[in-house]
Amino acid sequence: MSNRYFSYRDGRLQASGVPLDALAEAVGTPFYCYDADALEHSYSHFATALSGLPATICYALKANSNQAVIATFARLGAGADVVSEGELRRALTAGVPARKIVFAGVGKTPRELAAGLDAGILQFNVESLSELKRLAEVATARGTTAPVALRVNPDVDAGTHAKITTGRADSKFGIDAAEARAFLLANREIPGIRIEGLAVHIGSQLTDIQPYRLAFERLIALYRELKTAGLPLKRLDFGGGIGISYRHGPLSENGAGEEVGEADARVTAYAEMVRGLVQGLDADFVFEPGRLLVGNAGVLVTRVLYVKDNGPRRFVIVDAAMNDLIRPTLYDAWHEIVPLTQPAAGAALRPVDVVGPICESSDTFARERPLPPVAEGDLLAFSSAGAYSFVMASTYNSRPLAPEVLVRGDRYAVVRPRMDYETMIGQDRLPDWLAGQDDSPRQRKAGRARGAA
Ligand code: PLP
Repeated sequence: MSNRYFSYRDGRLQASGVPLDALAEAVGTPFYCYDADALEHSYSHFATALSGLPATICYALKANSNQAVIATFARLGAGADVVSEGELRRALTAGVPARKIVFAGVGKTPRELAAGLDAGILQFNVESLSELKRLAEVATARGTTAPVALRVNPDVDAGTHAKITTGRADSKFGIDAAEARAFLLANREIPGIRIEGLAVHIGSQLTDIQPYRLAFERLIALYRELKTAGLPLKRLDFGGGIGISYRHGPLSENGAGEEVGEADARVTAYAEMVRGLVQGLDADFVFEPGRLLVGNAGVLVTRVLYVKDNGPRRFVIVDAAMNDLIRPTLYDAWHEIVPLTQPAAGAALRPVDVVGPICESSDTFARERPLPPVAEGDLLAFSSAGAYSFVMASTYNSRPLAPEVLVRGDRYAVVRPRMDYETMIGQDRLPDWLAGQDDSPRQRKAGRARGAA
């Protein structure tokens, strides 16, 4: 693996100036490591590409919601795209001003709507007319008015993985454009609601600009039409979704790439396209990038526990599992796997299955992946593990959540320690019929017999 932030130095894979094997010694494995310079670079590049446009960049917390990550972006001026009260609280706690927060999501509860109103957020991205009604009730009851962008479903196929495409007419997201149009034209005054804009988000991990163009053209046409009809709209939210490169570096199938450069080029093309479409438009804009800002800024480091041959297949069993990184299981996602110690030049590659210890065949990170010689005790890194990785971790198989480390130059900080067993087990409670008394079937029978006597 080789990008500007994770690369071999003196034969050791480093995050900026910190060797990852030293971190493994310090915090144990598995662990996540993020690079602050990479986070800052991706944000700054995106912001620069859009400079001059009246835009708020609302980092989509769902990609990685560690406080240190959010605070890094907040200090650069980012807002936040949140989808739950938990994310709203995380954004506010990390220092994101409420006026830069958009609240998205298809199923916000009344309590979550109230939390957004009380915080004074920039806008609610409303996904159904039922939700709009509920928001109106909550806002009216609080004597306030909710700023709203209606999320329109543009019926565009983003051409990405079926599980992360969101802009087709048959998806659960957004409101049909014709329905939104008819509703807005017929309901110009809605007590408790101020319709300020329109929003779209057509999917995630998009590597092609064309679906965006189509969706944005449709959104802008609707916006113009509604403005011409006298609606006081002022904002367009273009959502997130810009993809990153997962295949890169010296060991990838398609040879050495440079993911930082590739992502930067994609952003530049995207920004140019947006600029072209919004020329002369009386609006300000919201962007909700997630993966783009964090995906290639993180790795998951793991240790090889065992290597075994079963028939023709060689299995490399590592101490990370699907509970730590579920993307390969969930989306058949590809993560490049690289040794922390640089392989000898020209080392022979051999196909192996890299698997975790969990009792499910789906606990598989890679099948028949050509890797250089791997021995028990070796350290490996899964690249591009900054987005939708730790945030999707669970304690399945009662495996405590892995720690997260943030590197900056030659310094590092543990930004979330490894969960300890006491915390994990201590979350459970015994009901009173199990706590402190013998409630075996024999005792219960005896109790019933006593009751009958
Ligand atoms: N905005 C919305 C409404 C989303 O649902 C998502 C992700 O699903 C995002 C933004 C962020 O997407 P990405 O991480 O692909 O940029």
